[in-house]
Amino acid sequence: MAKQILVTGGTGYIGSHTVVELQERGFDVVIVDNLSNSQIEVLDNIEKITGIRPAFEQFDLSERDLTDAFFKKYSDIAAIIHFAAFKAVGESVQKPLEYYRNNMGSLMNLLECMNKYQVPHMVFSSSCTVYGQPDVLPVTEQTPRKEAESPYGNTKAICEDIMRDYCKANEAINCIALRYFNPIGAHPTALIGELPVGVPNNLVPFITQTAAGLRDELSIFGDDYDTEDGTAIRDYINVVDLAKAHVVAIDRMLNGKSKDNYEYFNVGTGSGYSVMQLVKAFIKVTGVNLNYKIVDRRAGDIEKIWADTTYGNNELGWKAEKTLEETLASAWAWEKNVRGLK
Ligand code: UDP
Repeated sequence: MAKQILVTGGTGYIGSHTVVELQERGFDVVIVDNLSNSQIEVLDNIEKITGIRPAFEQFDLSERDLTDAFFKKYSDIAAIIHFAAFKAVGESVQKPLEYYRNNMGSLMNLLECMNKYQVPHMVFSSSCTVYGQPDVLPVTEQTPRKEAESPYGNTKAICEDIMRDYCKANEAINCIALRYFNPIGAHPTALIGELPVGVPNNLVPFITQTAAGLRDELSIFGDDYDTEDGTAIRDYINVVDLAKAHVVAIDRMLNGKSKDNYEYFNVGTGSGYSVMQLVKAFIKVTGVNLNYKIVDRRAGDIEKIWADTTYGNNELGWKAEKTLEETLASAWAWEKNVRGLK
């Protein structure tokens, strides 16, 4: 019988792509999402891609009683992938308690239920934000973590620590934290992708919305960084490649391959691109003109970061495969589909 995987936040951006990859690998998926930042129609589009409609339960995982009731109902879950969390850096500065309560509360409820209902495995969405501005680049898993720049970033560091400590106290529990770099792009079918509510905070959705005519121009935050063209550098990872890393992490745990019951991996491409390089690549790939201007640096932004993926590539047998160009083309195809453009 197919193993059942609980995907929390499964109607969200990375979650929905991961559900597709899990289903295509033959896993049975149940999604839990409170739809606070995603739409129920995502289920229709997952079904269009895979031919299978995942089971779905709508509730808030920071509510312990509801989480308990869920595990009583779904008694056969083999592993969890935990995406559900608040993720807006700026909002977290305004509403720190909401971020701590939601992101840490839901993780702790899940961990307790893992013990109580004997669900041993969890993959957790962490972030390269835990490294801050590293002293040495690229960053390996050994690179020391730094003080978080925002409550959001701090929830990722604290959640990692909670898992580490819980795994130490509970040998039967097995967790893998994946530290994502910058996920971008969309599924090649253009049926699922990133759908930010309101004005996008992230670079690529802002670019595609500008190209689609929803925004007048892109603001590039700073051109006086210590980089070749002065704009900031990130490691942009294709969302489908990223989704596949989760399936690989699940396989690692289900097959007893983990070296420790708490592990963490960088998930990036190993290459850094500047904001200006990305903008130029977008224009070249899509042939769309993009208005942009240089403005001041954005508060809290780091100058440059990219991953050393050696450890993850060797241990997980996973590697990012898509090029930046095809990833940007997929982001544009998705935006056009959402806006009904040709
Ligand atoms: N960025 C930008 N204009 C925007 C949004 C982002 O110049 O409208 C820059 C941002 O300063 C950073 C990079 O793009 O250098 C990636 O930002 P994003 O918010 O996508 O991800 P972050 O790395 O901050 O998590």
